[in-house]
Amino acid sequence: MLVVTTIAALRSRREELLRRDTRVAFVPTMGALHEGHLALVHRGRALADEVWVSVFVNPTQFAPHEDFTTYPRDLESDREALERSGAAVLFAPSMREMYPRPSATTIDLAELTVGMCGAQRPGHFRGVALVVTKLLNIVQPDVALFGAKDWQQATVIRRLVEDLNIPTRIEVHPTVREDDGVALSSRNAYLSPPERAAARVLSQALGNAEEAIRAGERRGSVLEALMAERVAGEPLAHLQYAAAVDPDALHPVRIVTGRVLLALAVFVGSTRLIDNLLVEGV
Ligand code: AMP
Repeated sequence: MLVVTTIAALRSRREELLRRDTRVAFVPTMGALHEGHLALVHRGRALADEVWVSVFVNPTQFAPHEDFTTYPRDLESDREALERSGAAVLFAPSMREMYPRPSATTIDLAELTVGMCGAQRPGHFRGVALVVTKLLNIVQPDVALFGAKDWQQATVIRRLVEDLNIPTRIEVHPTVREDDGVALSSRNAYLSPPERAAARVLSQALGNAEEAIRAGERRGSVLEALMAERVAGEPLAHLQYAAAVDPDALHPVRIVTGRVLLALAVFVGSTRLIDNLLVEGV
C-alpha cells in the first residue's frame, strides 16, 4: 500500500491510473479505523480496481468546544488495518496541505442541514461539505463510499455531488454494529465500561420505535416521544434529539407513510453518539 501525504503526489498517481483506465473507489475517514470503515473498504474492492482511503481529522467540521484536539489519532495502526484490508493508497495529508490558508469558499446545503445534527452543530455540515468536495476534487474517484450511520452527512454529500456535477458515484453502506446492536464509532473509544453498556440504549430506542410502527403507530411526534422516553430510562444517557424524518428531505414526518428515518443523538456521559434506523414498507 502506498502512503501519500501530498496532493501533488496523489494527483500524479491518479493520472497514471486514468491512463490505464483503472477505476478507483474512495473512502474518506477521520481515522481511528474500525470494522465499519473497513466494511466500506471491502465494498470498495468489489466496485473498483483500487481502493483509496483518506485519513484526515478535518478541523472545519468541529466547533471550538468539540473534540478536535482529543479525537483519537493512530496513523500507524490505521495504516496496518488498511494494509490488511487490501487498500491500495492511504492519503494522509497534513492540515497545511489541505488548508494552506483558510477557505474563502462556503458550501451550505441549508435545507438539508436545518434539523437533526445540523441544528445541534452549527457549521458542522459546511465543514463536511467543504472537505469532502476538496477530497473528491483531489482524488477524482469513480465511486466514493459513505456510511449510513451518518445518514444526514450521506444525504448532504449525495446532494452536493448532484448540485455541483461532481463526476463521482456515491454509494452508502449499511451501518456496521457490534453484536449487542451498538453502532461502531471511533468515539466509542471514549466510553467507560458502564457507558459502553449504556450506549445500547440508542439502538434499543430505535428498535422500540420500529416495533411501534409495525404495530400501527404512524404519528411522528409519538415515535419521537417513545424514543426519548426509552433514552430517559438510561441514567448515563442524555438525549440531544430524537427525530422521525423523511429519509431524503430530512424534514420531520407528521404521519408516517411508506418509509421513515428514525434518528437519535445521545450523550452517554460526555460522549455524543448518533444512530439511525430506516424503516420501510410502512
Ligand atoms: P468517520 O471516520 O467517522 O468520519 O467515518 C468515515 C466514514 O465511515 C463515514 O462515511 C462514516 O459514515 C462511515 N462509518 C463510520 N462508522 C460506521 C459504521 N458503524 N458503519 C458503517 N459506516 C460507518
